[in-house]
Amino acid sequence: MIMSIIDSHGRKINYLRLSVTDRCNMRCRYCMPQDGIPKLEHNNILSYEQLYRLSQAAVSLGIEKIRVTGGEPLVRKGIVDFLAQLSELPGLKQLVMTTNGLQLPEMAADLKRSGVQRLNISLDTLRPEVFRSITRRDGLNRVLAGIAAAEEVGLPIKLNMVVMRGVNDAELVDFAAMTLENKISVRFIEYMPAIKEEGWQSLVMPGEDILARIAEQYPFSPVISGELDGPARVYKVAGAQGTIGVITALSGHFCADCNRIRITASGKVRSCLFANDEFDLTQVLADGDNAAIQAVLRKLVAIKPAMHAMNEQEAQHTAFTMAQIGG
Ligand code: SAM
Ligand code: SF4
Repeated sequence: MIMSIIDSHGRKINYLRLSVTDRCNMRCRYCMPQDGIPKLEHNNILSYEQLYRLSQAAVSLGIEKIRVTGGEPLVRKGIVDFLAQLSELPGLKQLVMTTNGLQLPEMAADLKRSGVQRLNISLDTLRPEVFRSITRRDGLNRVLAGIAAAEEVGLPIKLNMVVMRGVNDAELVDFAAMTLENKISVRFIEYMPAIKEEGWQSLVMPGEDILARIAEQYPFSPVISGELDGPARVYKVAGAQGTIGVITALSGHFCADCNRIRITASGKVRSCLFANDEFDLTQVLADGDNAAIQAVLRKLVAIKPAMHAMNEQEAQHTAFTMAQIGG
């Protein structure tokens, strides 16, 4: 029987972010140090069988949407078969994935066949030199080709742009312009000081400033979003095919509506990106049944904080890499 799970602040928890690997073929400056992070040994990563059992337990508790993320999910061998299995999970309403897009030119068609319903593709710039300085890799053309390949096979796309003042904010209007002729959603994400790179404060551009910059060129109006649509405030530029949205994790708490929990590739479950409390699921996956996994997830939901305690000036959390937690 499928239930629904409500936390101690009255929020319905129906969204699971599932990280399938901590590995990545990019080194984005806001996510990972230049030399990467110490890699988890293969046997410390949850197997697909374990990830499936976890997802099954979560869905039977009331999770309706799963986002597969990483690290870069497309670098894990066997990902397409895993997605195909997950897409058949009874009770799961939405299966989506976040990817940096580098491998999409070859994989878009298989992903479509696997049953993934939508892709969020990270793209912070349309300028090759800025791309190289943010991701510490070449590859803008491959990502653009990947976006085209996904469109061609009919996968709906959202573009995630992490906005950094003085780095890519000059391109905000160009990104908004992409929605004029294309049925694409562009999400402007406030930079978060995850790894606390030096001088991070100057990079933060609050959502209000992002929207004000776009409004100078393109007037827009709000769009009502659905229950499973995530934390973005969504707008449409007058006459556009697609939408723009802003995710204000830092400046405008969306914690009151937070519906998510996260599972890391090594089997830790977290109720909040910025909370340091997490439970280790590896033991229960080794010797527990569905009810035992559900019990840990319930325990986690019970301690989900009302809101995170991070603000723009002070990052009170311990530094972490988004690639470890899944963004
Ligand atoms: N590798 C995939 C990708 O980049 O799309 C999936 C994992 S990545 C950790 C998930 C999302 O987190 C990406 O859209 C990325 O831009 C975002 N992200 C990572 N670090 C961030 C930060 N410090 N601030 C805001 N967003 C961040
Ligand atoms: Fe890799 Fe994604 Fe992190 Fe960039 S944001 S380093 S692509 S995991």
